[in-house]
Amino acid sequence: MKDIRNLTREELKEVCTSRGVPAFHAQQIFEWLYRKRVNDFSLMPNVPLKFREYLKTDFFISEVAVLQKEISSDGTAKFLLGLQDGLAVESVLIPEKKRRTLCVSTQAGCKFGCKFCVSGLNGFKRNLSPAEICGQLLAVEKESGEKVTNIVFMGVGEPLDNFDNVMKASAIFMDNRGLEIGKRKIVLSTCGVVPGIERLAESGAGLRISISLHSADDRKRSQIMPVNKKWNTGQLMKALKKFYEKEQFAITFEYILISGFNSSEKDAEALSMYVKGVPRKLNIIPYNPSEHFKWKAPTGEELGDFVGVLKEKGVFYTLRRSRGSDISAACGQLQAKLK
Ligand code: SAH
Repeated sequence: MKDIRNLTREELKEVCTSRGVPAFHAQQIFEWLYRKRVNDFSLMPNVPLKFREYLKTDFFISEVAVLQKEISSDGTAKFLLGLQDGLAVESVLIPEKKRRTLCVSTQAGCKFGCKFCVSGLNGFKRNLSPAEICGQLLAVEKESGEKVTNIVFMGVGEPLDNFDNVMKASAIFMDNRGLEIGKRKIVLSTCGVVPGIERLAESGAGLRISISLHSADDRKRSQIMPVNKKWNTGQLMKALKKFYEKEQFAITFEYILISGFNSSEKDAEALSMYVKGVPRKLNIIPYNPSEHFKWKAPTGEELGDFVGVLKEKGVFYTLRRSRGSDISAACGQLQAKLK
């Protein structure tokens, strides 16, 4: 049995034609699955009975379950979600003035081992399927009654290490018969998987991209992000230039400021030089301390001096505080207990 929620509408059309049924039934099935959200083929009356019977023999309709919900004092909500095989993942709903952003996980656990992030501490379990990625939105909307307007692939896992499933999930998110997330309203965040960035550029999928940079100095970056030993900052920038050439919109850089590690004026100068390589947005985020690591948040003075250099170098930036830290829902704090 296969999970029908793993199929994009294009793939579902192929299933229709392979069974001699007109392809437009794919659109109807999509509307039942994602607009009306039924979880039973019997409840799709406009789909021919015989075809529904075939679907029941070959496919099931998966559902992601809400196991737990916690709400932060700032309105951010963290959901612990249960998958069919008993694994759990986390998603975070971030309400803002005009939008409601859902931060989704793409893998159960993480194998990249960044030395400041708790998401990898329990190791890597497996990739999430498209159904499990999109199912996070279905579960959260059902539980909260809110309509998600934006998606960020910034939960647990490295989206470019689960490329095909993340691309299919994006297609279902963006489908106007699917989950109707607008174009350019999906951001994929990566620790710097260069071949994945190149593939994403070639795909022309229309996702925005955000880079977890955290240091523009190869020696320092390799110290905290092992991925940099495989693809260094030079290779990363080359791929980003290619990405910009294809997609023509600004690339976001995330820089978590860690006290006494990447917060010197020299670090700020290196960052300024580096990000000028492409049209960009730059987010400076004070590190969220964790009991698992020795790192500390920057002092006010360190932060002030650091951004002072950026200003002097004419690099525009946004200072961000990540939300939901009181319920461990902030950046780098997601870590569902995996069985
Ligand atoms: N693997 C992808 C998606 C995860 S996004 C990536 O690395 O981009 C999660 C973001 O939180 C990343 O930018 C990560 O570097 C950041 N992060 C991890 N630990 C953090 C911490 N303690 N404080 C602030 N940000 C953190």
